[in-house]
Formats: sequence, C-alpha cells, structure tokens
Amino acid sequence: MTAAALEIRNVHKSFGPREVLRGVDLTVPAGGVVAILGPSGSGKSTLLRTINHLERPDLGYVAVRGELVGVEVRGARLHELPLRAVRRQRTRIGFVAQSFNLFPNLTAQENVAEPLVAHRRLARPGARERAVELLSRVGLGDRGDAYPRQLSGGQQQRVAIARALALEPDLLLFDEPTSALDPELVGEVLSVIRQLAATGTTLVIVTHEIGFAREVADTVAFIDGGVIVEQGPPSLVLDNPQQPRTREFLSKVL
Ligand code: ADP
Ligand code: MG
Repeated sequence: MTAAALEIRNVHKSFGPREVLRGVDLTVPAGGVVAILGPSGSGKSTLLRTINHLERPDLGYVAVRGELVGVEVRGARLHELPLRAVRRQRTRIGFVAQSFNLFPNLTAQENVAEPLVAHRRLARPGARERAVELLSRVGLGDRGDAYPRQLSGGQQQRVAIARALALEPDLLLFDEPTSALDPELVGEVLSVIRQLAATGTTLVIVTHEIGFAREVADTVAFIDGGVIVEQGPPSLVLDNPQQPRTREFLSKVL
C-alpha cells in the first residue's frame, strides 16, 4: 500500500491555555486536492503551519508520504527525527501564503532560483534556466527580470507559486492565496492553482472562494473551533451540508 501524501491524526495544538486545534484528522491521497474552509480564528493557518512543521503538535502526528516528523502520542515522544530530517521534509512541502513574501531585492527569476541554489546546490546558471521554465508554467516566462515592486499582486503571487514548485514538492499548501488581491487579479492566480490541480499535484488550499473549492477540490473540509466539523466531496459539504455549523457558515459566505 502506498502511503498517503498527507496524513494528519488527532492533532492537538494549544497556545498557552488556548486550544487552537482539538483533534484534527485528515488524509490526502497523492494527487488529492483538499479545500479547507472555516471562519476566521478557527485554526486553519495553525493547521497548515503544523503540516509544514512550523508548529509541533502537542498530541497526534503529521506524516508526509508516510514519514512521521516530531511524533508525540499522549505526551510520550515515540520517536523524533533530528532537525535535519525536519528540514529535509520541509523542502518536500511547498507553502504559498496570503502575502507573497518575495525577496524585494531579487528579480522574479532570482526569487524562484533561490531554493534551488540553497537546497539543491544548483549552480546559478542552471538554477536561472530552471526558474524561467517554472515562471513559464505560471504564465510569467517573460517577466523573469522584473523586481516584485514592478509586478502586480497577482503576478507576485504567481512568482511565489513558481518558487514553491521549484523543489518539486510532494505537497503544496496554500493559505488564502487570493485574499490579499484586488478582485480583478484573483482569477489569474486561481487559474494557475486549477492547472496544478489538473496535473496531479497534491494540494491543500485554505480558501474563502467557495465556487473555486467546488470546482477544483475533491474534498472539502469545514473547520470550526479547531475541529473538522464535516469533510467530504463538494457536492455533499457545500451543496448538502449535514452539520448545522457548516450550514450557518455557508449561508454567511455564499
Ligand atoms: P485562522 O487561520 O482560521 O483564522 P489561526 O490558525 O490563525 O486561525 O488562529 C487560530 C487561533 O489561534 C486564533 O485565536 C489565534 O489568535 C491563535 N493563535 C495562532 N497562532 C498563535 C500563536 N503563535 N500564539 C498565540 N495564539 C495564536
Ligand atoms: Mg489564517
């Protein structure tokens, strides 16, 4: 049996007295596309940060392709990989945040080449060539020499996506990738993500774009108060939600 691209089991996470994740379970097969919806403060970003090993679960575990990192079960550390294993696993996970987080003093091409130079030890000319290919995939093959300030928000976010793809991640995480964009720039970013979904990249997307979730996701998970209240195909969760909290949320955003 091949391991799931991502397996989250009973993940709990508190900040001080506040329990932000209260037992999250989620399995994403390779090539799966999951959209995570939920109100502000429900724990969506914390969940993504936990998947990306920026936060460590207090209980439960996260495994990427069957490889567990920082496992703790009921307070007992069963096994913990060294920091270098955490770093290696993090290079297999791409992350695209709400704000584009590009290096302002590097061109688009240099931004995309940076992880290749840092993690793959590619020589700069090779890394630049690869960066141009990646920029072409997001429709920016001709903007490699532009600095972030010379690009629109939608273009900057597409550069951020190209950079997240540079190390050919097993898993790509998006945290509200379009919510910092002017409305007219949302479409170009969604169409790049749609294309990634169609080419079999495993995606976890936190989004408020319900129509987009319905179209690209094979699983929609609604999170509220640090638990996944309901998950399933969009036709169920979005069009025929079973839980009152899901219905209430959807009635506000649709
Ligand atoms: P969402 O992304 O769904 O809006 P978050 O995961 O960002 O929610 O936050 C969930 C809750 O956890 C919020 O109440 C937030 O203030 C709290 N929180 C998140 N990160 C931290 C942190 N590092 N320290 C303390 N509280 C945090
Ligand atoms: Mg958030």
